[in-house]
Amino acid sequence: MMLNLINHVLRISARRDRTEINSAMVDALTELFAPRRVSIYRCYASKRKTVVFSCAGFGPQGQFLRNAYLPEAQFSQPIERDPLLLRCRRELSAVLEHLDDGSHRVIFPIMRLDDPIYFIDLEMAEDFSADLRVTLMGLIEYFGNHIGLLDYGETDTLTGLSSRKTFDKHLFELLGQASTDRRLGNAPQPARRQAQADSNHWLAVCDIDHFKRVNDTHGHLIGDEVLIMVSQVMRQSFRFDDQLFRFGGEEFIALLQPTNRESAAASLERFRHDVEQTVFSRVGHVTVSIGFSRLLISDTPSDVIERADEALYYVKRNGRNQVACYEQLIEDGRLAAREIAKGEIELF
Ligand code: GH3
Ligand code: MG
Ligand code: MG
Repeated sequence: MMLNLINHVLRISARRDRTEINSAMVDALTELFAPRRVSIYRCYASKRKTVVFSCAGFGPQGQFLRNAYLPEAQFSQPIERDPLLLRCRRELSAVLEHLDDGSHRVIFPIMRLDDPIYFIDLEMAEDFSADLRVTLMGLIEYFGNHIGLLDYGETDTLTGLSSRKTFDKHLFELLGQASTDRRLGNAPQPARRQAQADSNHWLAVCDIDHFKRVNDTHGHLIGDEVLIMVSQVMRQSFRFDDQLFRFGGEEFIALLQPTNRESAAASLERFRHDVEQTVFSRVGHVTVSIGFSRLLISDTPSDVIERADEALYYVKRNGRNQVACYEQLIEDGRLAAREIAKGEIELF
């Protein structure tokens, strides 16, 4: 048991990719504790709503593993749907439920500050020894510490959003998934393409207007507070599965889940509006300008950021405090098309 345990811990500790860490953790749990069922949930908690994404586990059909960076709607649910998960989220400690057939279910939360970030959910056929229980709790605590270190490295310390460092990773996961879909033939067929062409990921660059003035007038500390508040508004304005990053000083990036251009524009407009409505103590009102563009399969991170940036600069030149879509500006003849050399011309 001891040697086995160490081997599993070593395998988990060697990994930096969340999907791989989950896979190693499911292996460890199934081999060491022989549960009937295991699920690892990533938890997206906000004041208004908590959603859980079942990203790895083991069940009657064997093991399953999903990309931990890309919460899929069909495997995500509001936490209220599962009363025991909800209880765990409320109590913020392990919860236990005895099932009719004598087995039991136990859920452990993994916390970051005051919020759960993962849940580990196990169904055990029978009770096990105190020793085994302590081992299980130790393994879960270790997993939590490993995830905590990962989070620490990936998070912007001022705002708590993902940091620039992790942006490329997220984008590559997305592009990798898109190209896998295409290889597997899941991509829209040419005939259906027009209808679905717009249902795609979008990338938005959001930049605070005249932020230098805030710093110059009120000082850097107040400037930092504005950055914190804008990031809080951002988190509340977007969906749990939209990925948000602090990209530079007063620049933020949102990677939106697949949707059409109108919905993307609407959610960015909501964020812009929410910021405009927020009263920042001392500073009063602050606005943001936003440019966005569709993510293409052939994009590198800088390709798509450059297009969104062009739309952003357009807004900066034309009054700020607005949202502009790169593709729309091209269609309207307000921006000259960049050279589009990657075979995606048919989409415009
Ligand atoms: P524009 O509307 O054109 O975007 O004007 P701006 O003043 O926001 O643009 P600019 O890029 O010239 O200024 C950004 C300023 O953001 C410069 C810098 O002083 C400030 N800044 C960058 N990072 C931080 C930070 O971490 N904290 C604070 N307080 N200020 C920062
Ligand atoms: Mg800027
Ligand atoms: Mg600015």
